[in-house]
Amino acid sequence: RVHMAALLDTMVVEAEGLSQGRHRIVVKNTCPHDLWGNAQELHSAFGNLVSNAVRYTPEGGSIYLRWTQDTEGRVAFTVADTGIGIPREHLPRLTERFYRVDRGRSRGNGGTGLGLAIVKHVLARHHAKLDIQSEPDKGSVFSVIFNAEQVAPND
Ligand code: ATP
Ligand code: MG
Repeated sequence: RVHMAALLDTMVVEAEGLSQGRHRIVVKNTCPHDLWGNAQELHSAFGNLVSNAVRYTPEGGSIYLRWTQDTEGRVAFTVADTGIGIPREHLPRLTERFYRVDRGRSRGNGGTGLGLAIVKHVLARHHAKLDIQSEPDKGSVFSVIFNAEQVAPND
C-alpha cells in the first residue's frame, strides 16, 4: 500500500530541493485514497516528472503538484508547470528511451532522455496511463491516471 499523502509530501520536498526557491510550488490534495503499488517505483516515476518540471521551467515560473479525484472517481497524480512546453510533433515520441526535444533552451540542460521511459515502464506495471498536455512557452501538464483497481479503500 502506497501512502499517497506522504508520497506527495516527499515530492514537494524534492521539488523545493531542486528548485532552490526559483519557482513557486503549489500543492493540492483532494484524493483521500492510497494506492496499491510499489512505493519505490512510484516515487521514482513521480520524481522524474518533478525533476522535469523544475528543469524545464525558467526561474519565476510555477510548478503544481496534485493528487486528485474527479467526479467519476478517477484518481490522478499531476505535475504541471509554466515552463518552456513541448511542440506538439514531439509528444508521441516523448516517452521513448533517449528521446529529447531538440531545442536550444533544453539542450545544455544535461538530461539523458531516460526519465520518461522509466515513468512509462513503472506506469505499465501499475496499470496507469500518462496523459501529456503541453504548449510551447505556456507549460506542460503530465497526469498519471490510475485504474480504479489500483485505488485502495480507506480504512
Ligand atoms: P533525464 O530525465 O534522463 O535526466 P530528460 O529530462 O531529457 O533526461 P525525459 O525526462 O525522458 O529526459 O524527457 C524527455 C524530453 O521531454 C526532455 O528532454 C524534454 O525535451 C521534454 N520534457 C520533459 N518534461 C518536460 C517539461 N515538463 N517541460 C518541457 N519539456 C519537457
Ligand atoms: Mg527528465
